[in-house]
Amino acid sequence: SGKEAGRGGYAFFEQQMYVDAEDYRSLENDVRNALSSDGLALHYQPIIDSRTGKLVGREALLRWSHPVRGPIPPDQFVPIIEDAGLIHQIGDWVIREACSEAIHWPGEMRVAVNVSAAQLSGPGIAETVLGALASTGLAPGRLELEVTESIFIGDDVSTLAALERLRAIGVRLVLDDFGKGYSSFGYLSRAHFSKIKIDRSFVHGAAEGERDCSAIVRAILALARGLSVETTAEGVENEREAAVMRALGCDQLQGYLFGRPVPATDLIDEQDLVDLHPFSRAARAL
Ligand code: C2E
Ligand code: MG
Ligand code: MG
Ligand code: MG
Repeated sequence: SGKEAGRGGYAFFEQQMYVDAEDYRSLENDVRNALSSDGLALHYQPIIDSRTGKLVGREALLRWSHPVRGPIPPDQFVPIIEDAGLIHQIGDWVIREACSEAIHWPGEMRVAVNVSAAQLSGPGIAETVLGALASTGLAPGRLELEVTESIFIGDDVSTLAALERLRAIGVRLVLDDFGKGYSSFGYLSRAHFSKIKIDRSFVHGAAEGERDCSAIVRAILALARGLSVETTAEGVENEREAAVMRALGCDQLQGYLFGRPVPATDLIDEQDLVDLHPFSRAARAL
């Protein structure tokens, strides 16, 4: 059905969830093999300036197509990677791969990479990022690291120190999925974020006119303005959601309306994207 396609064709895996420990261990082996045999890939999803309709960056999203089970969503296999002790290896590959791709993009266009809490704890992330920037020549300001509030749970001093070190050289820190879970305004003072991404449940709710969602989105946007932090609305699926988030003053929009995550080989250039989308045409006409 359309809904299943909307989840990225993951329906098969959801029915076939790993049932026992043996099965889980075999998945750990499979993901280890995937890393060494080009079985992992990054897909890229556009991020649009809400005022100009222009493409300002792309988020890199990790994909794994299991040889037998088919595509498995990252929400499900990232924990497997972490349990298998492979998160540093795979996370490093993601950072290097995304930087190597983004260096081919025009001008100031940014690439956003997701980084999990486990990936940040312990040494290494700062060196990996510095190495990737140095070897590709990507300007630090073109790289965004997306983290969720989960990085604050353990109160890990070394995590915050590594992030601060990267921020100090110009890498942009982004707080992902804001509003979901236990998101606290207090987290925004714990690190120097350049951007907050508003979770898609609030984007959807605000566009549906749910009063609580609208109030929360307004509060997040007011707070972000006060802190001089940029904002992106996640999961924008239709014109109405785009129009509402734009009217509320959200800086950027991301979602299926503007493009699904696609392999690097399928990326279309900035002008094509601007021309393709009615929303972007409308924005340009203003
Ligand atoms: P996220 O960082 O919040 O990424 C956004 C998710 O929303 C992606 O799911 C994307 O495909 C999906 N999405 C985008 N537009 C829409 C829309 O209009 N509607 C709906 N319903 N969904 C939309 P995906 O690719 O399945 O990734 C899920 C999560 O897995 C990500 O959430 C991120 O937390 C994690 N992840 C993805 N790639 C990586 C990675 O390389 N490393 C780590 N550590 N985590 C990753
Ligand atoms: Mg993200
Ligand atoms: Mg998100
Ligand atoms: Mg998420």
